[in-house]
Amino acid sequence: MFTRRAFVLSTLALAACTAEAQVRPVPRGADPGLVPQRTANWLAWVEGYKPRARSAGIDAGVIDRAFARAGYLAGVVERDRNQTEFKRSFEDYLQLVASEERVRLGREAFARQRSKLEAIEARHGVPAEVVAAIWGVESRYGERRGDIGVVSATSTLAYDGRRGSFFEKQLTAALRILQRGDTTPDRLVGSWAGAMGHTQFIPTSYQAYAVDFDGDGRRDIWSDDPSDALASTAAYLERSGWRRGERWGGETGSGGLQPDPGGPRFATGRNFGVIKRYNNSDSYALAVGYLSDRIAGAGPLEASFGPDRYGLTLAERQELQRRLGAAGFDAGKPDGVIGTGTREAIEAAQRSLGVAVTGDPSPALLRALGG
Ligand code: CA
Repeated sequence: MFTRRAFVLSTLALAACTAEAQVRPVPRGADPGLVPQRTANWLAWVEGYKPRARSAGIDAGVIDRAFARAGYLAGVVERDRNQTEFKRSFEDYLQLVASEERVRLGREAFARQRSKLEAIEARHGVPAEVVAAIWGVESRYGERRGDIGVVSATSTLAYDGRRGSFFEKQLTAALRILQRGDTTPDRLVGSWAGAMGHTQFIPTSYQAYAVDFDGDGRRDIWSDDPSDALASTAAYLERSGWRRGERWGGETGSGGLQPDPGGPRFATGRNFGVIKRYNNSDSYALAVGYLSDRIAGAGPLEASFGPDRYGLTLAERQELQRRLGAAGFDAGKPDGVIGTGTREAIEAAQRSLGVAVTGDPSPALLRALGG
């Protein structure tokens, strides 16, 4: 069995970076690299691919319609090559995918979709709040589903060759979706790596697990109505061995997993492993489990994370970002996560203060920027 993102190496850092890229798709209009280009080399690759699609059972007409408005996406190749840049702590990852804001939005989304989520739970045996948490982590409850053409993205990555055979399988599975009539070429969109809809299914997972929950004959994970997408996620977990009535795990005082040294510890049960079948990363499964508990009404983690490797706590990193912004160095939203934007702001501040330009946060910089 493949896992849903078997193509993503299962290290914590890489999984966390990838998840971030997938929950924060760049709007297509803002990046010329995401406008399809019908380059000669890509077109030649497509011509070479067509007979393979035909022998996989895809009709010529479906292939022609699928590629009619598709093209090479330079921005997709760029993202594929840049995903291993830096290692994130679990605390940072939680801030990105399961922040207090994400908890609040989750409780609202849960309330709005409660009857559907409960019907899905009754059918598939997966708790409503776990499905809602995956929805929150994957697309911010449907807000960030991605608008990049899947045929363009997967054919670009298949042609690019670094993981060519994996993406050619995704491309062929995407064409099968069109052949079956589940959606149209224009609506077949997703993130840069071809993950689609509310809960970011890749095409082969869609083929294996997607369900038509509302019974209209189409497995529509792209529409504003999340019913089919949420039920498909529950179906995936059910078929991956979800054990009814068991918890995923929970925070413990001792033993268990401790993703960040000095930070909270977690006991994990069999269903933790089932969540990892969805995305093979401890951080991912812990974030989903934690967010599901929060959506169901639990409070924040009891243990604190303590200072990071720069000697700053989350609250101090957020204060640093606020002070950078107030001093005219835009560090973006003060989420306490020191990413590329914050590092650039720190470098600019360091330059203007006449100190060594490292891009690293520090207690000294926090003091230098005043209160
Ligand atoms: Ca449907």
